[in-house]
Amino acid sequence: MDRYAVIGHPIKHSQSPFIHQQFAEQTEQTLEYQRLLAPLNGFADSLRHFAAEGGKGCNITVPFKTQALDIADELTPRAELAGAVNTLHLLADGRWLGDNTDGAGLVMDLKRLGFTLSGAKILLLGAGGAARGALAPLLAELPAQIVIANRTPARAEELAQHFAELGNISSAPLEELEQSFDIIINSTSASLQGETLSLSEQVCHPDTRVYDMMYSATETPFLAWAREQKLEHRYDGLGMLVGQAAESFYIWRGVRPEVMPVLEALREQLAIPV
Ligand code: NDP
Repeated sequence: MDRYAVIGHPIKHSQSPFIHQQFAEQTEQTLEYQRLLAPLNGFADSLRHFAAEGGKGCNITVPFKTQALDIADELTPRAELAGAVNTLHLLADGRWLGDNTDGAGLVMDLKRLGFTLSGAKILLLGAGGAARGALAPLLAELPAQIVIANRTPARAEELAQHFAELGNISSAPLEELEQSFDIIINSTSASLQGETLSLSEQVCHPDTRVYDMMYSATETPFLAWAREQKLEHRYDGLGMLVGQAAESFYIWRGVRPEVMPVLEALREQLAIPV
């Protein structure tokens, strides 16, 4: 039986086995998908061991995404641009292909939710790994503008420079945002710590749509802020999680699973309201 895994540290919380088992059932594929806890200094060994036992592909999560980039024998352009690998695929000649499906999962989810990306003014909050992975797929949708704002402004500036050739992208300090945006995407981990970002009311207009990459059984501080601004279109990142997994599944199996039934099952399992 073909073997797949998600490798990280910690790994207990990962929903990937549930998602991929659902995809396998839905597409009538026979495969095994497990969680693998790699020691903090033992990612390469864990991957070698997994391959020796017949592993065909894996998802990589925190904190190994940049190590996976270094280990991959070949990279897709989007993984190279993201500077991180979340999907490894064993090629027929025994080499690892490294890809990054996080941004594709985000764009897939935004479109499913009715966001119009082409021509939109987008504010991207945060300049960490998730932001870096999202930028090339977002810019490929031809937005009018992307502004990156981050607590540490230098990281936002660096990202804007890195992606400058791909579209109209700039950076601004969080506290100095004065224009309004059609779409605001939160890729910071502030919500994870229960913290609210200090954003001016001016960043939104009545039809601004907001998306928090984080998901939680209770409303995140960012989505609570958006509700207080009376914004109607507010969404969490659970669909991004299922979307990036669907893209990985396609890379491994050549079949595109349906996202919606799995997203609904996952919401129910985690008791996360729509
Ligand atoms: P990183 O650690 O790489 O980056 C964290 C970012 O958040 C940095 O820009 C950091 O700013 C900022 N930040 C952290 N704390 C605060 C705070 N209190 N106030 C303001 N800014 C803050 O994390 P990732 O990019 O990997 O992940 C970010 C979020 O995205 C997480 O919540 C994660 O769960 C979510 N995510 C969701 C996915 C999904 O499938 N739904 C996929 C990937 C990530 P600074 O540079 O100043 O430190």
